[in-house]
Amino acid sequence: MAEPPTGRLVIISGPSGAGKSTVVRQLLADCPLPLKLSVSATTRQPRPAERDGVDYHFLSKEEFIRRREAGGFLEWMEVFGRGDFYGTLRDETTTGLATGKWVVLEIDIEGTLSVIPQYPEVITIFLDPGSMEELERRLRHRGTESEESTQRRLEVARREMAISDRYRYRVVNDRVDRAVQEICDILTSHVGD
Ligand code: 5GP
Repeated sequence: MAEPPTGRLVIISGPSGAGKSTVVRQLLADCPLPLKLSVSATTRQPRPAERDGVDYHFLSKEEFIRRREAGGFLEWMEVFGRGDFYGTLRDETTTGLATGKWVVLEIDIEGTLSVIPQYPEVITIFLDPGSMEELERRLRHRGTESEESTQRRLEVARREMAISDRYRYRVVNDRVDRAVQEICDILTSHVGD
């Protein structure tokens, strides 16, 4: 009997403000592999224009904790010490992988480090904003964060840049089109592994 198709797990990660969402969105649109985005769960409030079930599954803290205790998360994290939880629901990955999809997780660095031992074959890509100055410019340009939150994200980013060598690949997001092409080429080089 033929083996069922199994997809690949891909993590695109990097400091908050490295441009992950933009790069991932364009990768899904442009790269001809059967990519599927894993929609994370979070307890933070939706930003304007964010949609439930599309950008995140927005959960109450109670619901998040209930699912966590039921083993529903592949990984989860409390980010930035502000009491908001983020996590990857197991169902988001297993269904896609079982049907041969390349499931893309857009998660933080701690989350990545906890997925690696569970899926040693995971393709991990660190998206590098280029420089701390560029990162600060992007965070401020986004205009959704308070000064305190911006400072906290920058501090976390400094620590995160220091552990980027735990990733298989590092891609500099100097230009979105170029970074997307580089990531698509990396993934394509793993077809048939
Ligand atoms: P934001 O609040 O800007 O949407 O995301 C904040 C941080 O949480 C980002 O660095 C993002 O990558 C990370 N994040 C989003 N979803 C997940 C997830 O499911 N797991 C983990 N560990 N981090 C996540």
